[in-house]
Amino acid sequence: MNSTPSLSGQSALVTGADSGIGKGVALALAQAGARVVINYAHNKDAADATVNEITAAGGEAFAFQADVSHEAEVQAMFAEMFNQYGTIDILVNNAGLQKDSKFVDMTLDQWNTVININLTGQFLCSREAAREFIRRGVVEVRSRAAGKIICMSSVHEVIPWAGHVNYAASKGGISMFMKSIAQELAPHKIRVVGIGPGAIQTPINKAAWDTPEALDKLLTLIPYNRIGKPEDIGKLVAWLASDDADYITGTTIFMDGGMTLYPGFADNG
Ligand code: NAD
Repeated sequence: MNSTPSLSGQSALVTGADSGIGKGVALALAQAGARVVINYAHNKDAADATVNEITAAGGEAFAFQADVSHEAEVQAMFAEMFNQYGTIDILVNNAGLQKDSKFVDMTLDQWNTVININLTGQFLCSREAAREFIRRGVVEVRSRAAGKIICMSSVHEVIPWAGHVNYAASKGGISMFMKSIAQELAPHKIRVVGIGPGAIQTPINKAAWDTPEALDKLLTLIPYNRIGKPEDIGKLVAWLASDDADYITGTTIFMDGGMTLYPGFADNG
């Protein structure tokens, strides 16, 4: 028996879907039956490869280049999605990056770039999606909700991170952004949920897993003793977007192998 909940007939947009977690999410949504817009910033070949993987498996997808921190580009992306798929049912705000620096050396450009892409990008995409969800309302044959917004946060929405204040501030910001719009949009039958991944094996954190020494050090932070994979997050997103999760809104689900359990206290508290 296939236990994947059906998203058949639904249309999804995943930002930053040419790589890592976003790619894993796009594949999982397509496998559950959704049509998927593969947003990417620069790497057209990687975005096309994601589309090809979906269509080869019998799914439907197209790639669209847009910088999520640019209002006009985001609006053009939603316009093209509505042109091709008619509407949107699921938005996954996944695009994000790091520009690491010691606090006292951090440039304004490093700060602004991370806040603009990681946080303002979620604002711009969520606003376009919410406008369409409210305009269209619930379509019961597809879902009990008028729309679902899933915000990729991080364990760093609660774990402080020296040397990465721009990134941690962006993820802390996502937490209150997600909760505030969840409160505002719930009467419209729109669900908004955050995901707080721990260490997931992707290009963003390659230095933390690409040698045995680095991986051993990383695993000391993960009680469950394995690094996560993009497909772990993909399965969670497919479930959160489905009606099986219809009563979940305004909270962050941490998927981190126990990274938020203060592992340093395991034998020393
Ligand atoms: P990744 O580097 O593989 O992917 C990042 C994606 O963001 C890419 O697809 C890239 O195209 C996209 N992107 C970057 N700037 C963009 C822009 N201006 N406009 C549109 N897209 C843009 O990294 P990942 O690990 O897959 O990260 C995905 C998300 O997951 C990020 O928000 C990241 O903060 C979060 N996250 C990752 C981990 C982890 O351990 N990998 C842990 C917690 C949270």
